[in-house]
Amino acid sequence: MSGTARLRTSSSACVERNRMPTVKDILVEKGSQVHRIAASATVLEATRAMNDQQIGALVVMDGPRIAGIFTERDVLRRVVAEERQPSQVSVGEVMTRNVVCCRPDTDIDEASRIMRDRRIRHLPVADESGHLLGMISIGDLNAFHASTQEAKIHFLSDYVYGRA
Ligand code: AMP
Repeated sequence: MSGTARLRTSSSACVERNRMPTVKDILVEKGSQVHRIAASATVLEATRAMNDQQIGALVVMDGPRIAGIFTERDVLRRVVAEERQPSQVSVGEVMTRNVVCCRPDTDIDEASRIMRDRRIRHLPVADESGHLLGMISIGDLNAFHASTQEAKIHFLSDYVYGRA
């Protein structure tokens, strides 16, 4: 089953059971993979990894601990705009240190609110001990919202036309 089809299944299940969707519903479909990098890596290495994986953010690790987050916005703001050499700057020098995370049971609306209020587009998902369980992006949230709306329309039209 494709990722989009799985997302549709998950959002439909929430609509049918009238259950508030959580971040876990996205991770069930998307998986728990989190792309990580060490603070000692160069910005050049980080941007190559981001391009290879077609992603916009890396979680920066210090052993098992989350040390920071590095996104394409940091490349623009803290490297390019400051005329720094990507091969000479380490990720640790230009990452954001205070990482905002959410829990798997955070509801989807709350995750959207956090991103909007903090002006961020990436939210690592961690448990109480700080272990990484996944990563959601604003794109994942938008796709989930869209498929929930679609599932609601199907559900309501089935109801109106007596198919439910
Ligand atoms: P983004 O919009 O996600 O590309 O990130 C915009 C800025 O916020 C960048 O400086 C990122 O390093 C930072 N940022 C992104 N996500 C987070 C997060 N979850 N916690 C803290 N800072 C973040």
